Amino acid sequence: MSSNSGFRVAVFPGDGIGAEITEPTLRLIERAAARAGAPLPDWSHCDAGAVHYRDHGTALPKRSIATADAADAILLAAMGLPAVRYPDGREITPQIDLRMEFGLYAGVRPVKPIPGVRRVLADPRAHDIDYVILRESTEGLFAPQAPGTRDGDREARETMVITRPICEKLFDFAFRLADARGGQRKVTSVDKANVFGAFAFWREVFEARAAAHPGIGAESVYVDAFAMTMVQKPWSIDVAVTENMFGDILSDLGAALMGGMGYAPSADIGDTHAVFQPCHGSAPDIAGKGLANPTAMILSAAMMLDWLGTRHASRETARAGALLRAAVEAAFAPGRLVTCELGGDAGTAQVFAAVGDALERQD
Ligand code: ATP
Ligand code: MG
Repeated sequence: MSSNSGFRVAVFPGDGIGAEITEPTLRLIERAAARAGAPLPDWSHCDAGAVHYRDHGTALPKRSIATADAADAILLAAMGLPAVRYPDGREITPQIDLRMEFGLYAGVRPVKPIPGVRRVLADPRAHDIDYVILRESTEGLFAPQAPGTRDGDREARETMVITRPICEKLFDFAFRLADARGGQRKVTSVDKANVFGAFAFWREVFEARAAAHPGIGAESVYVDAFAMTMVQKPWSIDVAVTENMFGDILSDLGAALMGGMGYAPSADIGDTHAVFQPCHGSAPDIAGKGLANPTAMILSAAMMLDWLGTRHASRETARAGALLRAAVEAAFAPGRLVTCELGGDAGTAQVFAAVGDALERQD
């Protein structure tokens, strides 16, 4: 934190709808901070993304990495566009490059539907869904140290990398998270240990770390069974820890259960840095039309304020995060607001206005 101002936050507006939802989110954070008596964050805007690559030839400039490195937190909207690719055809994903650059192994993806948003699951117990998918975010099937290979039109291969040091840190993070949440105090490890040796190893390391956290429950389940649990008995989940690819897929299922991609926030956390960003991408199909649901971005900002508040023992900053979250819930009180994403008429501007008004009503 710089001496007489607030936390330094590196801001990556990125591509598509990312650019549309960033500035109004910064204004909401400032209003929440002011209400909570917290110093206003000190924003540093960073260039990166597909449009930057198209216009300048680099997707994640060194200058942006340096700014992010020096910041207290990184707030990212969305990056990449299907139409802009590297010469070898790969998509431009600076958000993944940032995870690798700063070792952000812990992808925190809360699944907690907003009470007033149309419910996807009919069971009355679905009111109580409140869990976190903790997605390993630097290796697994996405490991950069084991790039896929392709032999012409004959075959293609990918390698899944599971390493003990990352797993141990991730599992310890999961047990600490279950402890801090103070709910069911349980960690569910999601794997496919019956088929893959890499997952048998994952399970072995998980069980060893579970023994080091005796106060927290631990169980291992297969990914297929876990996908069913997410739909049939989601209230039984507390913290679920997964390999990178499984987490990618399951967290989109979690987002759908909250109402859609526009409701799902996330954080990617490492030992020294953290990136906060909505789970969705740049959604070029709706960009420029005022239709994007900014709720996931606002909730990601709230997660950032929580994290900064806890890490730096700033009660006011944590309070700003709580205010922002309460304002989102109030804005979506039953009958108030139905987003375009769910077939209603509340576009980007209406959601921001409603959350801003609700923020003024919080105390
Ligand atoms: P990525 O590869 O970055 O995950 P993706 O190809 O999975 O991106 P997204 O951009 O996440 O795609 O979105 C998929 C679709 O969901 C979009 O095309 C859009 O229609 C919808 N969508 C995503 N985010 C939002 C949002 N914030 N508000 C409304 N609709 C959204
Ligand atoms: Mg996606």
